[in-house]
Amino acid sequence: MTGKKGKQNLKEMLQMPTKELSDLLREEAAKLGLNTHIIVVRFGGEYEPSKVTKFKNGIYEIVLSGLSILFDNLRSTLRHELYHIYDGHLEGKRSFIKYLFIQEPRAVIYQYLGIKL
Ligand SMILES: [Zn+2]
Repeated sequence: MTGKKGKQNLKEMLQMPTKELSDLLREEAAKLGLNTHIIVVRFGGEYEPSKVTKFKNGIYEIVLSGLSILFDNLRSTLRHELYHIYDGHLEGKRSFIKYLFIQEPRAVIYQYLGIKL
């Protein structure tokens, strides 16, 4: 989807009711046994990549990119970011090599196949 129509649809989709989004979070977090009280989810801008960040107060923030909404990948993207939390990828010292070759592939495998490695 490109052009004006795509943008219009994205705008509409970004107005997804908060309840719908929190239901989705609760459903997917439960599959991983994660506590939703320490996770907040928000929509990012159209070109903002999806990501998860851990704040000093222990709260995780998941950003769902506008593109994941446009391509109807909301649940899938949420599963990916939740797996990073579940598998402890945001804890301790970060390593880009570890992220690239271990953590990211694990999150992708869970995202699409539901396998927890
Ligand atoms: Zn990832």
